[in-house]
Amino acid sequence: MPLFLPHFNLQKLNTLAVPAVANFYVAVQDDDELREALTFARTENLPLVVIGGGSNIVLRADFPGVVIQLKSQGKEVVAEDEHFVWLKVAAGENWHHLVEYTLDNALYGLENLSLIPGSVGAAPIQNIGAYGVEVKDLITELSALEIRSGIVVNFTNESCRFDYRDSIFKQALKDQYVITSVTFRLRKTAQLNLSYPALRDALAGLDNPSPQAVSEAVIAIRQSKLPDPALTPNVGSFFKNPIINLAQLQVLRTTYPDIVSYPVDTARVKLAAGWLIDRAGWRGKEAAGAKVHAQQALVLTNPDRASGARVLALAELIQQSVRAQFGVTLEMEPRVYP
Ligand code: FAD
Ligand code: NAP
Repeated sequence: MPLFLPHFNLQKLNTLAVPAVANFYVAVQDDDELREALTFARTENLPLVVIGGGSNIVLRADFPGVVIQLKSQGKEVVAEDEHFVWLKVAAGENWHHLVEYTLDNALYGLENLSLIPGSVGAAPIQNIGAYGVEVKDLITELSALEIRSGIVVNFTNESCRFDYRDSIFKQALKDQYVITSVTFRLRKTAQLNLSYPALRDALAGLDNPSPQAVSEAVIAIRQSKLPDPALTPNVGSFFKNPIINLAQLQVLRTTYPDIVSYPVDTARVKLAAGWLIDRAGWRGKEAAGAKVHAQQALVLTNPDRASGARVLALAELIQQSVRAQFGVTLEMEPRVYP
């Protein structure tokens, strides 16, 4: 039986370091403990939330229910051929430790996703991405336990309906499954993705960069631009990059010829949300007790460990001014609880 801890302070379990208390906290090591935690919440008639590293959540207030943290560990090679290895990884494993493990074992594909905080089980939820790679490119299938029935179901890559920072687990199946393991297809010979200029520039001095060099470059760039959550609490990008149609871009370009956009398909483009926030005058500013990061305006920080409500108040001010100036709605990336 896992240990249910009452009146639990969540400040150390969310990288925004918001002070909030849960009625109960429980760490679970495997599927059976997870089922026991779900049964407890159902029996006590309490809402529940499953977390990994707490690096993509905003706790608006105390959580009036059960916080279940996945701690399951384990990696297993489930198949192999001439070119690929299929690695099944428990949801509670740390994401960056997995990236390091794959590189140490000459398994490639995850290098651009180095240093992303959080757990393996959360990675498919928003289809984590960085420097031109999304985790959907590597996932072949995953296992998830249905909260209602306790039954474990397999999802193929296709059935996860991955999209830009999105999956079925944020849409039609929101709050219905707990991801318990993820299977990755990794290459035995690296096929590097250097499509992002910042990464290409960082490796410009090397003739034939190794995947380890790519990982090190990604880590160095990230450390130069992003605040370390252990020192300056944050949840990474606070907003998604908005996707708009070409006609809307043409209109914006008449006023802002230097607006930053990237093609999505023939009809749509992705705008850099950080650029919009910067041009709306928010970079480095402080309001409602939280701050806009000076090196990357897409990141909000919480240096004084203010309440989630205060950070959300700053986010709302930013959304309002970006909407007023550009007519573009910024959608929040982290999930807000309760
Ligand atoms: P949590 O914050 O614990 O949970 C996030 C959501 O997923 C919650 O809704 C939770 O209920 C749900 N969830 C968690 N685990 C499970 C599970 N096993 N089953 C079902 N639901 C679950 N993201 C990127 O995409 N790219 C980046 O480059 C990136 N960089 C970041 C940099 C910094 C400094 C920070 C702080 C964050 C960054 N993020 C980035 C965001 C975040 O790290 C990722 O979204 C990460 O996958 C969240 O993992 P987590 O375990 O902390 O999730
Ligand atoms: P950046 O390199 O300054 O680029 C700014 C934005 O432009 C990024 O959001 C990125 O979109 C987009 N972009 C840049 N080059 C691109 C290209 N060649 N093709 C398509 N889009 C391009 O961004 P950054 O803030 O330093 O972050 C670097 C990478 O880490 C990005 O991929 C970013 O998503 C990721 N990251 C994510 C989080 C998070 O919490 N989600 C936090 C930190 C960093 P994309 O975001 O779509 O890649």
